[in-house]
Amino acid sequence: MIISMSPGATAEDIASVVDTVTARGCEAYVSQGVSRTIIALSGAVEQIGSLDLRGVAEVRRVSAPYKLVSREGHAERSTVWVGPVPIGPGTVTLIAGPCAVESPQQTLEAAQMARAAGAVLLRGGAFKPRTSPYAFQGLGEAGLKILAEVGAETGMPVVTEVVDARDVDLVASYADMLQVGARNTQNFTLLRAVGRSGRPVLLKRGMSGTIEDWLLSAEYIAQQGNLRVVLCERGIRTFETATRNTLDISAVPVAQRLSHLPVLVDPSHSGGHRDLVLPLSRAAIAVGADGIIVDVHPRPSQALCDGAQALVHDDLRELAETVTAFAPLVNRIPAISPLTLTGHAARVPVGA
Ligand code: PEP
Ligand code: MN
Repeated sequence: MIISMSPGATAEDIASVVDTVTARGCEAYVSQGVSRTIIALSGAVEQIGSLDLRGVAEVRRVSAPYKLVSREGHAERSTVWVGPVPIGPGTVTLIAGPCAVESPQQTLEAAQMARAAGAVLLRGGAFKPRTSPYAFQGLGEAGLKILAEVGAETGMPVVTEVVDARDVDLVASYADMLQVGARNTQNFTLLRAVGRSGRPVLLKRGMSGTIEDWLLSAEYIAQQGNLRVVLCERGIRTFETATRNTLDISAVPVAQRLSHLPVLVDPSHSGGHRDLVLPLSRAAIAVGADGIIVDVHPRPSQALCDGAQALVHDDLRELAETVTAFAPLVNRIPAISPLTLTGHAARVPVGA
């Protein structure tokens, strides 16, 4: 069951709803949506009936196992803002950058390439979740510093992965958006920790996770009060070996029908090869994705991580053309950021 508060509901109104439902044997999870507060209830929900309390707009039984992220109780699709950058219906948001932060020079060059292609958010991993323990694990905090500096210099808020719940505060102190990767989508301690971080979260789909698993992972984050979650389809593991993963393109409209959260596509980690990134990006925009996130590297042959899928200069020009041409076909505009136009992004305060 969920309770939607009216947009003007005060903190006292919310507290009084929580007190009332708790007294009737329910547990209440308060979450801040884009325009209103939503309260999910578990426990003795049959005791609730109607709630004649100030600020309550609607009480609704939600049949989906995920309540706060479900579209059943939130018909309007959400826009998640990362500082001045929107991710949601109406826009196509391009996120680009190196798979891993390797050095200040490589990160700056990749960011400049990303920005020239129209990217409005910079991606880059400082803590890398690698399948092999012998592979490059990322630069850690030194990488976060580089990313934050390059983000500020190029005017792009940054998104970076956090792989351990103990690092959430550290990563949140440098990054504007936290990424939870495919290998960690059922790390429930981490999901709860990013839910408490005050930062928007980019949640990849697990490589063997169903859409329901994915939305329940998002619910873990939302249950901590954070509804600023962006879903990202990044390919699933199938019998096919010709691609790194199988991009489940139908997951985009399905997730958008089931959840109000924005849905991105990562054509780099799904295709696993540069030549597939553009065709998959076209498919993603055509199917209605709210944006795409791609790997970029100035010298892919020297990349410490995922060089085969990194776009280089000519690809980026084509990607920019693709976004500009395809977005209007699905009644969207490419997202632009005022910061990208000026450079020198101010750090986005937590919660903004
Ligand atoms: C990444 O985006 O760098 C990454 C590791 O992606 P995924 O978790 O989807 O494999
Ligand atoms: Mn990668």
